[in-house]
Amino acid sequence: MTNKFKKNCVPNSEGFFGNYGGKFLPPQLEKPFAEIIEAYNKIQDDASFISELRSIRKHFQGRPTPVFHAKTLSDNNGGAQIYLKREDLNHTGAHKINHCMGEGLLAKYMGKKKLIAETGAGQHGVALATAAAYFGLECEIHMGDVDIVKQAPNVSRMQLLGAKVVPVSFGLKTLKEAVDSAFMAYLEDYENSIYCIGSVVGPHPFPLMVRDFQKVVGIEAREQFFEMTGNLPDVVTACVGGGSNAIGLFSAFLNDPCEIIGVEPLGTGTKIGEHAATMTYGTEGIIHGFKCYLLQDEAGEPAPVYSCASGLDYPGVGPEHCYLKDTGRVEYTTCLDSECRDAFFKLSRQEGIIPAIESAHALAFALKKAKEMDTGSILVNLSGRGDKDLDYVIENWGTGD
Ligand SMILES: *Cc1c(COP(=O)(O)O)cnc(C)c1O
Repeated sequence: MTNKFKKNCVPNSEGFFGNYGGKFLPPQLEKPFAEIIEAYNKIQDDASFISELRSIRKHFQGRPTPVFHAKTLSDNNGGAQIYLKREDLNHTGAHKINHCMGEGLLAKYMGKKKLIAETGAGQHGVALATAAAYFGLECEIHMGDVDIVKQAPNVSRMQLLGAKVVPVSFGLKTLKEAVDSAFMAYLEDYENSIYCIGSVVGPHPFPLMVRDFQKVVGIEAREQFFEMTGNLPDVVTACVGGGSNAIGLFSAFLNDPCEIIGVEPLGTGTKIGEHAATMTYGTEGIIHGFKCYLLQDEAGEPAPVYSCASGLDYPGVGPEHCYLKDTGRVEYTTCLDSECRDAFFKLSRQEGIIPAIESAHALAFALKKAKEMDTGSILVNLSGRGDKDLDYVIENWGTGD
């Protein structure tokens, strides 16, 4: 957590990564967001904040998470060797806890009493409810009625952790309305509360702040990989929903001679409504207070999206990824549901690791890429574990026999 808006650093002081990002807010939210920016600038260099966050990562989350050489999988696949950054071994089972603990600690430093957020599939809600319980803060999670029914186990988890789940019953009753509802609640109570975004998206400073909290993934992985192999990986890859696990890993390798690839979900095909491959099929637009590549209809409204991985089906994407695509430093590719399914079963059967369906997208790309390489290495961010996906998998894919 260094470099406060240094020269040549993105974002600039207005939160722009090239053309993307920024802060497009209703006037009433200007003041609360200015307060968050100011607080974040302060804690970035604050020794006691940094040391408390380090201690939490080590003793509560279980960091550092290991890098694992998936040797059997690599040997069976032929070609390059595949390594996994095991973010699935974090407390609560995914990388989201990295930024949720940071956001919770920021709330504590700001003297806030309540964390407010929306959740779609419930993963961000559970991670944030965990942070709230840890810090002794209230927690209010807004969730569409449709998602509440679909994601019942996560609703129970949030409630067990002491969070209040607020049902949202207007519009399509899913993520977009949940965001609107959470924003409204924040507006009414910003003196006491802070809004906590679940990825490197939303108005400035969230794409910057969430990235900084996720950087630990890349810093650890680069050092661990080098210690294991004496080299840097030839290819670094991660799945991209909003883009937080990917930017966390990528950030450490941007100045290295590594190929860096983000993998987006192609769902069942290339038509609107069949996928959520924002980088490949999106055009510049504004969603949830920031500018990015966006899957949109002719009126500029976010288009319907689909993926078997509920954590990846977002029509926008983090502004830094848009910038990295335009500069050519990072390439973005896609993965079908069916390819994800194969990778999911291969890792489960050949290594004894059940991955999150989101993470299996990155793994599917790695398997394809490894085959094209005779030698060399690929580092994959295994962003989460698949326990949350078991019902979906058994119902839709069976046990893989
Ligand atoms: C939420 C989630 C993602 C997608 O979010 P990003 O911000 O793109 O990282 C990926 N993997 C897992 C396991 C998740 O829970």
